[in-house]
Amino acid sequence: MANVSFDRVEKVYPGNIKAVANFNLDVRDGEFVVLVGPSGCGKTTTLRMVAGLEEISSGEIRIGDRVVNNVPPKDRNIAMVFQNYALYPHMTVWENMAFGLKLRKVPKKEIEARVKDAAAILGIGELLDRRPKALSGGQRQRVAVGRAIVRKPAVFLFDEPLSNLHAKMRVQMRVEISRLHQQLGTTMIYVTHDQIEAMTMGERIVVMKDGRIQQVDDPISLYDRPANRFVAGFIGMPPMNFFAGHVRMSQGGLLFDGVGGMRLPIPEQDMAALAAFRDRPVILGLRPEDIGSAAAEQLPDAPRIRAAVEVVEPMGSESYIYFRLADTTFISRVDAHRKFKVGHTAAPAVFVEKAHFFDPATETRIGSP
Ligand code: ATP
Repeated sequence: MANVSFDRVEKVYPGNIKAVANFNLDVRDGEFVVLVGPSGCGKTTTLRMVAGLEEISSGEIRIGDRVVNNVPPKDRNIAMVFQNYALYPHMTVWENMAFGLKLRKVPKKEIEARVKDAAAILGIGELLDRRPKALSGGQRQRVAVGRAIVRKPAVFLFDEPLSNLHAKMRVQMRVEISRLHQQLGTTMIYVTHDQIEAMTMGERIVVMKDGRIQQVDDPISLYDRPANRFVAGFIGMPPMNFFAGHVRMSQGGLLFDGVGGMRLPIPEQDMAALAAFRDRPVILGLRPEDIGSAAAEQLPDAPRIRAAVEVVEPMGSESYIYFRLADTTFISRVDAHRKFKVGHTAAPAVFVEKAHFFDPATETRIGSP
């Protein structure tokens, strides 16, 4: 097992394409870290640099105590699981799993024991004689993971391993990979563009955009205290609502004076930081569950937003209500039994203590840290 550390790592592809810039991170021994971000943000490039499949333009990557910049992939003691599984079609499941060990001249008895153990962990003991084309997507993915497990690597690298699976199998494999991590306790770095995968699997999440780290945090801190507007909008589904407005002084208190006549008192904990923004523009962020939810409606004297109901989307236990307020739309997440009529105006309560504020110039978070 090993930690993985990145020190000012950069990747510039030919044509001066800056894929990764100033990447600093310490993945602890045994930790499960997820790299997440939109397409093209540099997460796969980062993972491939750890694997040795991509050269590092500058900076250093260490696995354990060893700088691996110039170590060939086969000597890095890592195992990578790819999106397309990369199984050998002409080999059986058994052969696929044993192949890497044979190449390394691991004794036959040891290979047998390791393949059997991995097959048991993954529940694919019945499939060992089949070839990949006779397997479902989920089974293929298990074999790909099995091939990685038998190597007993110091670090597992996963590159979007679930994106070719249908939704139900994705959820199942997500749980299986988390369980595998608990069982093996091996360091894992997992790349995905799916924020739900990141939130459910990662002990820590690294949010990336345009080759740069935006925030590194545990899932709940990321959700509760996004460092900037990008992270705020990327993490959470439906996404956070944003409202343009100004900070104004009123009767001794500060308020958010926003689009469509929206007026919300600025909560105590944000007063000091927002005082510096008096009469200046700010962006207010409110998560859908903080508008019109039972928690918001039960608060005494909760401020309200008056807006037109445009669409009601019943989801089963809850409904998503799409509102329009001047040129802004926003979504609220409410109990499915509450009635909202399309075309009517409603005034959902706002859980203002849960508000987020961002500086429109820098897009960074203002207020409660
Ligand atoms: P995706 O989720 O789409 O795989 P990603 O976040 O993994 O995206 P990367 O594949 O790491 O992103 O790509 C980062 C940037 O580097 C992108 O702008 C991409 O076009 C560019 N890039 C990736 N590979 C190469 C390459 N071999 N040559 C030139 N540019 C590349």
